[in-house]
Amino acid sequence: MYYRLIYTLQLFIAPLSLAAGCFAVIKLQLLPESLHSFSELLVWVFAVTGGLLALSYARTRVLFALLLVLLSYWLLEQQVQQPSLHSTSAPINLGAPLSYLLISLLLPLLLTLNSLWSERFHLMHDLLLRTLVFSFCCIIFYAISQSFPLQLSDALSTTYFPSIYVNHLGLAQLPLLTFFVCIFILLIQLIRNPQPYLAAQLTALISMVLMLQWFHQPLTPTLVTLAALLMLSLAVLQEAFQMAFRDDLTGLPGRRALNERLQRLGRNYSLAMADVDHFKKFNDTYGHDLGDQVLKMVATQLNKVSGGGKAYRYGGEEFTLVFPSKNSEQAQPYLEKLRIAIENYQVKIREEAKTAKSKTDSVSVTISMGVAERSSSLATPEDVIKAADEALYKAKGAGRNQTAIYK
Ligand code: GH3
Ligand code: MG
Ligand code: MG
Repeated sequence: MYYRLIYTLQLFIAPLSLAAGCFAVIKLQLLPESLHSFSELLVWVFAVTGGLLALSYARTRVLFALLLVLLSYWLLEQQVQQPSLHSTSAPINLGAPLSYLLISLLLPLLLTLNSLWSERFHLMHDLLLRTLVFSFCCIIFYAISQSFPLQLSDALSTTYFPSIYVNHLGLAQLPLLTFFVCIFILLIQLIRNPQPYLAAQLTALISMVLMLQWFHQPLTPTLVTLAALLMLSLAVLQEAFQMAFRDDLTGLPGRRALNERLQRLGRNYSLAMADVDHFKKFNDTYGHDLGDQVLKMVATQLNKVSGGGKAYRYGGEEFTLVFPSKNSEQAQPYLEKLRIAIENYQVKIREEAKTAKSKTDSVSVTISMGVAERSSSLATPEDVIKAADEALYKAKGAGRNQTAIYK
């Protein structure tokens, strides 16, 4: 739980930094006037780059989030801002407030719909379906705004709850309520399944709504849109990086990350290999799904390793623990702590996983470990891993559920 929370919070580092930087530039007016039109051009450059990036990784959700942010920006610039910004004497565009209201209502709604819509389909089907659904929503609202502009404007801008009317809020109550409901839904989605994209989208949506609040201040729409596009594009890269370095099932760093780490170890370190005992039998008895659940539990426990150690999934039901600046004797107590925690953990068995072979409500698993340290005879990380594997083999032979040191 604690690790999940830390991981979820980490996902916000990049998007929140971008949002904070963006609002600082706006409030402190740090951008020189000569760069204003350049930043408007950058919006399109970032949108195209982000869009191509999302497309190349088949991230249709990100692609459509980028499109929704860009469309809102474009509409805001075209319909709402231009008349009042570029010429103070020009009559106010009568369509402007309605466009503004529609953007503030539809942006959170469509972003949330897009977010809840998982990327399960074939790429082309997904693109086509999303295009159809979002175009349909936009056309419907456009048609209503053309046929019943006053009624729609009234419905969107009415203060439904006069008792909680806040004077200085730019957003009307209905769009504001929609925004809070959408934020709540996205937050639940993020808590249930923390991903860089969801954190980026949540921050982007909050930034965009703050932008709607202050959109009449020069450059605000441009800079906030730029930041939102960057957040979403960065999330694609972050997820691609995770795909390469993190193991999907357990969430631990995987073999590639381990290899990378092994290249950067000094002269004094130890490595441990851990292997789940009789795991094949466990899978055969309770099924592969429960086996996966056990692997997740083992990974969660191993991830709690103290003493400066770090856990990796080596492959299958094998894990590697790296202890920089510790020899085998020094690492052993930390390994024993993990072994005991796993032995004591009761894995609940769901009704459908109970078989004729076993009807118990919960079961525990054990792991065996072997640990070895770098020495003159074990000079490379590969040698140390091989030695740790030998020690692991000894631990298995000696009855399992124990830690053996390579001698
Ligand atoms: P030992 O105590 O000697 O280690 O016995 P074992 O049965 O654990 O050893 P063995 O290497 O024969 O079996 C490993 C099993 O791990 C085989 C495979 O079904 C299972 N396994 C490997 N990767 C996964 C996985 O990702 N999910 C699940 N559910 N099982 C896996
Ligand atoms: Mg094995
Ligand atoms: Mg095993």
